[in-house]
Amino acid sequence: MLVRILGWPLESTLSPAIHAAAFRACDFPWEYAARPTPPDMLRQEIARLRDADCRGANITIPHKEAVLGLVDDVDASAREIGAANCVVHEGRKLIAYNTDAEGFARALAEVEFDPHDKHAVILGAGGAARAVARVLARAGADPITVVNRSAPRADAIAALFGITATMNFDAALRGAELVVNATPIGWKGDAFDALPLELLSRSALVVDLVYRSTALIEMARAGGLRTQDGLPMLVHQAALSFELWTKRAAPLEVMREAALAAR
Ligand code: NDP
Repeated sequence: MLVRILGWPLESTLSPAIHAAAFRACDFPWEYAARPTPPDMLRQEIARLRDADCRGANITIPHKEAVLGLVDDVDASAREIGAANCVVHEGRKLIAYNTDAEGFARALAEVEFDPHDKHAVILGAGGAARAVARVLARAGADPITVVNRSAPRADAIAALFGITATMNFDAALRGAELVVNATPIGWKGDAFDALPLELLSRSALVVDLVYRSTALIEMARAGGLRTQDGLPMLVHQAALSFELWTKRAAPLEVMREAALAAR
């Protein structure tokens, strides 16, 4: 069986290493292949997932939203979030799922962070931010604030999940107990301009969805705050994808080791 990952430019993905290790550990003679897919090739690549020997794909930047219009069915959470990162070829159908959201929920559980009644701030308003917002809203985080550089996308999330949008870091961060970076800032060694982490609650958790050590994580650690990078979420979303394709329990620790080794 074949599983693919479609994204563009698909330069720094750890997913092939994670899934190859999982298939090996489970004695599955499956292959996980990276398919760099520019936007104008997405329709064609999604159609190829219907091949008899193909079980589905992971979908990554920038296709997580466009894929929804190219499959037969969309799972309820992917529909609400408006983005999917996993497609399963089931019978004759392609079904899109969002495992990022549950992956984020499980990553928070790993550090025993219960969002209920917590003041949470999401930086960014793209697909990952929407997955995070859904998890936090359903877990009862309150208040939840989205901060984005451009207002329309932040306003859209705010309307969708009944939360607040602002462009003012100070107002958003004062007393916050959870901050989640759902922007790509940090991937290239870059950092937020003047992010006042000193305004956070002293017991705050700072999560960066970027799965490398970033300036944000380093700054938070230096300020004595708890931190989590994006690797646990990445591993959990991969495990959930594996389970959707194979209907078998994922070898989570094997996948984590593979991600750490490949990072
Ligand atoms: P999107 O492109 O959908 O959204 C990106 C968001 O970041 C937008 O709100 C955008 O603002 C904002 N943004 C982008 N560049 C900048 C910048 N230079 N300054 C300020 N804001 C910026 O991406 P995704 O939501 O899919 O992914 C976001 C991040 O999350 C990525 O780094 C991705 O790798 C990571 N991720 C990690 C996962 C994991 O498992 N660890 C899973 C999914 C994502 P605007 O709306 O104004 O364009």
